[in-house]
Amino acid sequence: MPFADKKSESHLNKAIEVSKKIGAKGLQSQAYLDLGILYKAKNRPEQAKAYFNRAIRLFEQSEAKVYLKQAKNTALENAVLTIDFISVRVHCKSCDRKKEVEDPVLQCPFCEKGEIELLAGREIEIISIELAY
Ligand SMILES: [Zn+2]
Repeated sequence: MPFADKKSESHLNKAIEVSKKIGAKGLQSQAYLDLGILYKAKNRPEQAKAYFNRAIRLFEQSEAKVYLKQAKNTALENAVLTIDFISVRVHCKSCDRKKEVEDPVLQCPFCEKGEIELLAGREIEIISIELAY
């Protein structure tokens, strides 16, 4: 692992340690999520998946869940949290082709030129909110 990655990994582990101590599950969850992203970028999908799952489990127990509990007898009583991961799609300006990619790419998978733009995969989007009474 290059030095910069090692460094961010150790910062994230420190963040996890501290947030565990102070019981900040939201922060801990965010750190696990970042570790997952780091491992995915390093092409280690199994470790990435393990961190993503930890992040999701913690997030479900965290402040968000507390707010959901406090929301009893309100419109949010039966709220369900669903997280979908969106695939990364790139477009090549040289050959005009599009492709879904697993890992970050710096050049076109077809013509190997460097003029690619990101079409999808950076967004955080609330797809739906349903209110039931
Ligand atoms: Zn191309």
